[in-house]
Amino acid sequence: MITARDVTFRYGGTGFRLRVPEFVLQNQERVAIVGPSGSGKTTLLNLIAGILTPETGLIDVAGTNVATLSDAQRRRFRASTIGFVFQDFALLDYLSARQNILYPYRITPALTLTAEARERAEALAVSCGIGDKLDRHPSALSQGEQQRVAICRALVTQPKLILSDEATGNLDPESKARILDLLFEQASQAGAAVLAVTHDHELLPRFERVLDFAQFREEADA
Ligand code: ADP
Ligand code: MG
Repeated sequence: MITARDVTFRYGGTGFRLRVPEFVLQNQERVAIVGPSGSGKTTLLNLIAGILTPETGLIDVAGTNVATLSDAQRRRFRASTIGFVFQDFALLDYLSARQNILYPYRITPALTLTAEARERAEALAVSCGIGDKLDRHPSALSQGEQQRVAICRALVTQPKLILSDEATGNLDPESKARILDLLFEQASQAGAAVLAVTHDHELLPRFERVLDFAQFREEADA
């Protein structure tokens, strides 16, 4: 699903430098990323999603070298292939929770908003415990509820790759486990791979592999 090789990246004007000699995620594999704050976990997800472009190296996602796409192609590719739960949710407050969940359909001509998609949005929201809050706008939702809206939005298009950046961070322990169940259940149904940054160590045994980013960077720097 993902092959990254000899990838380097730096933000302009900062000392931070990410170097990934090799990272591979198999189809349908479930991998957790752990590591200290500021170690580049979010940066790596953004590189994989094509939101950032590496300085050097190759990032292949589902058979496509993301860096070779035009901006428009990359947006289309991302919308049809990847579900991304952002660390800061990235919800739009002028839209209701329902409209936020269905947002990928609004911005992607290749995705058609069918009755089935609407039903899927509704069912996901119910599973996440926000079925009765779909008409509210994000500012009228708690952090945890906003997070669940972001999760529903990432899953509604049935992507082949789910990238999740601390998606359970603002939830209570019971909700964390339930949300992860939902994420994995949706991934199974869609045959999707999951790459999830998490600080919830109690959830790690549920992943097939855990990538410690601190260690990863040490190796990279060696
Ligand atoms: P993590 O997700 O592991 O906490 P990030 O990938 O967000 O880490 O950040 C890695 C490093 O890059 C940090 O030192 C952070 O301050 C820096 N950084 C993140 N985003 C930007 C940006 N847009 N511009 C400049 N530096 C950034
Ligand atoms: Mg981060």
